[in-house]
Order: sequence, then structure tokens, then C-alpha cells
Amino acid sequence: MKVGILGAGQLGRMLALAGIPMNMEFVLFDPAADACGRHLGEFINASFDDEASLQMFADKVDVITVEFEHIPVKSLEWLNKSVPVYPPPAIVAAAQDRLLEKQLFTRLEIPNASYQAVDNEQQFLDYCSGAKRSLVAKSRHAGYDGKGQARIHAGTDLHSAWKELAGVPMIVEDMVAFDREVSVVAVRNTQGDTAFYPLSQNRHANGILDVTDVSLNDPLMTQAEDYAQRIMDELNYVGVLTVEFFDCGGELMANEMAPRVHNSGHWTIEGAETSQFENHLRAICGLPLGSTQSTGPSMMFNVVGEMPARESVLAIPGAHWHDYGKQPRQGRKLGHITLTAENSQQLQERQTLLQAVLHK
Ligand code: AMP
Repeated sequence: MKVGILGAGQLGRMLALAGIPMNMEFVLFDPAADACGRHLGEFINASFDDEASLQMFADKVDVITVEFEHIPVKSLEWLNKSVPVYPPPAIVAAAQDRLLEKQLFTRLEIPNASYQAVDNEQQFLDYCSGAKRSLVAKSRHAGYDGKGQARIHAGTDLHSAWKELAGVPMIVEDMVAFDREVSVVAVRNTQGDTAFYPLSQNRHANGILDVTDVSLNDPLMTQAEDYAQRIMDELNYVGVLTVEFFDCGGELMANEMAPRVHNSGHWTIEGAETSQFENHLRAICGLPLGSTQSTGPSMMFNVVGEMPARESVLAIPGAHWHDYGKQPRQGRKLGHITLTAENSQQLQERQTLLQAVLHK
């Protein structure tokens, strides 16, 4: 089986790393010549709308997937005429647009923050100036990791906020007072079988995921599973789907979804029977899904901007070091560390040791 991956960043790299033991081969496609997954298979370095390169890519593979959702839908639809693309292009399109995403949640009766779609400055000023509570404005397209967002409180200069967001179409939603942020990593294969990983509790720093603490036996797991199942059924989904939620007093509100393997699921490499990466490949290749059971308590720490001292991390029992081999840059995800342990007390002790190394 030869798998094509659009995008050769760390997610493409970890997908290929999971597939190699199953004797899968990979062709990775990325516009960045130094993409960190480039050595994991054949590498095509071209733009996502370069038809000749896309044709060459399609000719080489049996199935195509994406490592991130911001790939031109036209290219996905074009590829899908000759090779199956999973998740299907229409779903990737919905995940590219926060308005379509919100409409999908609402149609499926999945609670989400009240919002208004805004297309021009007048609509923005009218809606924000009449609001009774704090708001979050988010660009509809190309927003992730808190990019393209502005918080609006009483007294915020609305003209500057509009300018800062570059005047693009957006949604303006109520600021949610949540207790926790959680996500569910779900998977559905071509036969329609589904599986769900235990709930991830996520903490962010500067809009980027910082720490994932796996919540085994979480009381909200059934609710999260039900909502993810509704989305996958509605869309006839294939692959890993991640849904991020706010926990508001025991009720989940959907924030956004990602039609792909997700940072909050990286712990599954060492912390679950089958990783999210292996299960995504199984799903798109029509293979039986692997168990999503956790193998014990675990936590994942993202490394952003600069890698810590490798020796110090590896000296901690249960620490698993992932260095994506990327050039350091402020705010760039460079790697992650997963901690595993036999019980929660041991995990706590190991976490204290790791936090001292990471200065967190
Ligand atoms: P997003 O790109 O939508 O995941 O937003 C990035 C982060 O901003 C989220 O993980 C939350 O911490 C925060 N955030 C986004 N939307 C809201 C909201 N409506 N209310 C409160 N916090 C939010």
C-alpha cells in the first residue's frame, strides 16, 4: 500500500513513522523544501495547486490523506477523481470555514457558543457595540492555534480590532467561561467502524496547545463520544477526527474540529494500545481499527520555540522524547514529550521532574 500525504510537517512525519512497520510506503507532498517529514518517503516539493506535480503524486499512490486542513479544496477534488482522498474533500472544506463548522454543530444539535457571521466593518461595529458580554472574533478561514482572533471587551477600540483582523469575513462569538478545555480523538474507517480515545484535557499558552493531560474515565466521555459520532455519521467520515470542546459545568460546548490527527492525540503513541497515527492509516486503508485503550496514565508536553536539553529529559523515567528536526523559531512547535507511568502518583512525580527541566 502506497499512501500519499499532503503536507510533510510533523503530522505527516508521525503518520509515516506509524505506517512503516505495517510495510506501507509514503509519498509526502509539501511546498516547503525543508519540511521535517521529507526523509520519510518519496518527497515532492511543490505548491498545493501545481497540477503537474499533483498528477505525478496521484500516479504514485493508492490513497491520499492530508496532514492539515488548509489545502485548496479544488486540488483535493481534482485528486479525488483518480485516487480516493480521505477525509473526503467536502469535509475538509467544512473544517476550513468556521461558519460552516458552526452551522454543522448547530444542525446536529451539538451545543456551541452563540455567534454572528460578520462580513464588513459596519456589521462588525453594529454587532459588537450592541453586545452585552465579552466576545471573541475569529476569521472564518485559515485560523488555527489562536491566529486570526481578537478578544473584545467593554471599552475595546472596535475600529482597531477590525483593522487588526484585516477586515476578513469572520464569526464573532460569545466568550465562554469554561472550566476546562477537552478534546476527543475519534476514528472511523471505510467500513464505518468507529473508536474513541479517552478524553484529553488541554491547557494552552499563547493560543498554542501546551499540555495534554489524559483524563481516564472522564464523566464527560460519553457526551464527547456521542457528539463526535454524530459528526462522523453525518459526514460519512473516514480517518481520525478531533473535536475540541469547552467543559462548562459538566456540559460540553463544541469549539472546533480538525479533520486529521491532532496535537492533543500525540500521547497515544506511547500511551495507547494503537496510536492515532496508526489508526488513521488503518481507517483510510480499509483495515480493522486498533484498540484505543490507554495503557496507563500519561501526559504530553509540547515543545515550542526551543528544544530543552535532551539528556535531562531522557534521564526522567517514562519520558519519551520527540524532536521533529525543525529549525527553532519563536512560537514554532518543535517537538513534544510524553510522560507515561504506572499510576497517577508516579506520573505526578515524573511531571515535577520534567517541569523543572522545561521551566514550566
Ligand atoms: P481556537 O483557535 O478556536 O481553538 O481558539 C484558541 C483558544 O482560544 C481556545 O483553545 C480557547 O482557549 C480560546 N477560545 C476560543 N474561543 C473561545 C471562546 N468563545 N470563549 C473563550 N475562549 C475561547
